[in-house]
Amino acid sequence: MAAGRHDADIVIIGGGPAGSAAAITCAKRGLSVVVLERDQVFGERPGETMHPGVRPILEQLGLGNRIDALATGFHAGIWIEWGGPPRFQTFGSDADGPWQGFHLWRPDFDGALLSLAGDFGVDVRRGVSVLGIAGEHGAIREIETEYGTMTARVVIDATGRVRHLARQLDISYQPRSPRLIARYGYVTGSCPVRDDAPKISGDMSGWTWTARIRDGLYQWTRVDFNDVAKDDWLPEEFQGMAPLSRTRGADVTWRIAERLAGPNWFMAGDAAATLDPTSSRGVLKSILTGVMSGHLADAAIGGKLTPQQAASYYHQWLLEWFDKDVTHMKQFYRLLGHSELG
Ligand SMILES: Cc1cc2nc3c(=O)[nH]c(=O)nc-3n(C[C@H](O)[C@H](O)[C@H](O)COP(=O)(O)OP(=O)(O)OC[C@H]3O[C@@H](n4cnc5c(N)ncnc54)[C@H](O)[C@@H]3O)c2cc1C
Repeated sequence: MAAGRHDADIVIIGGGPAGSAAAITCAKRGLSVVVLERDQVFGERPGETMHPGVRPILEQLGLGNRIDALATGFHAGIWIEWGGPPRFQTFGSDADGPWQGFHLWRPDFDGALLSLAGDFGVDVRRGVSVLGIAGEHGAIREIETEYGTMTARVVIDATGRVRHLARQLDISYQPRSPRLIARYGYVTGSCPVRDDAPKISGDMSGWTWTARIRDGLYQWTRVDFNDVAKDDWLPEEFQGMAPLSRTRGADVTWRIAERLAGPNWFMAGDAAATLDPTSSRGVLKSILTGVMSGHLADAAIGGKLTPQQAASYYHQWLLEWFDKDVTHMKQFYRLLGHSELG
């Protein structure tokens, strides 16, 4: 843990779900926290479909009373057409009724979570990109931004797929799948068959995800194992609808960083590990890793754990979780008969 005077106890790079969850966790424990977020205003970003498990965590963070206002629709399960006829898989239920997944428009959701961090006293600096990291012996000494350098006792990297810290510290990622590229886009119009719940359909060359995000707006994702999807490709059920913006691409190869934490830093969210979107848990995992890294940073600063214990606990915890998810994903892909992924 970096000793001496610092600009803040915790500096978090990136204000997506992982960064905001880490910031709120640390601020609630009385630490001084700065979030450096590159985007002045959030634009559209993928990851709108929330697993029901996201709700209790958001309630714990303090967003509970805003979830229903932010949610743009609810669904009790997902249509799955994967190695057999379409079936509706529910999320489960309890005495209060069926568990509900929901959709969120990410700019609104990410903005609300970051603003909640501000309400807890976090110093949120938007429009600030972290340009570099200066360090020694695997620890971070300074964070460089276009507005000058900063120091912190602990740095949490929550830069998503940018993976800023890993690039700076030369940390590589272990791939656990062949290279997978997701193409995704949004269409406007009406598609009544997709209004009750999202659907995933697998075939021998890949899979397609379709979902209604809000009234008149739908999202699709296509992963083609041979990456041959054309830029003007649209799922069959969205044919004739108007694309909202150009088709985008994202590398969704299953991978995890070789080191997930160090003497005074943690990686949270997609910066630490990614799976392809069939896992349906990207945002949930980002929030949970943000919370866990925040707790461990607090424990290390407060002397309850040594920095080495905190780093090693985090690394082990996330690696085990990731390994279980990989096993689960392989079982899912095996049903499709895709040998390289199953
Ligand atoms: C096609 C696709 C579909 C998906 N669908 C789903 C889904 O339906 N449900 C789901 O749960 N997940 C889904 N995911 C996964 C989900 O998008 C991610 O897991 C989630 O957004 C990761 O959150 P994060 O906070 O780790 O990173 P991000 O949300 O990427 O946030 C990172 C933040 O860091 C900021 N940043 C980056 N670099 C810097 C820098 N140098 N300085 C300062 N700030 C910086 C960025 O501006 C951004 O705000 C999908 C992913 C893809 C690619």
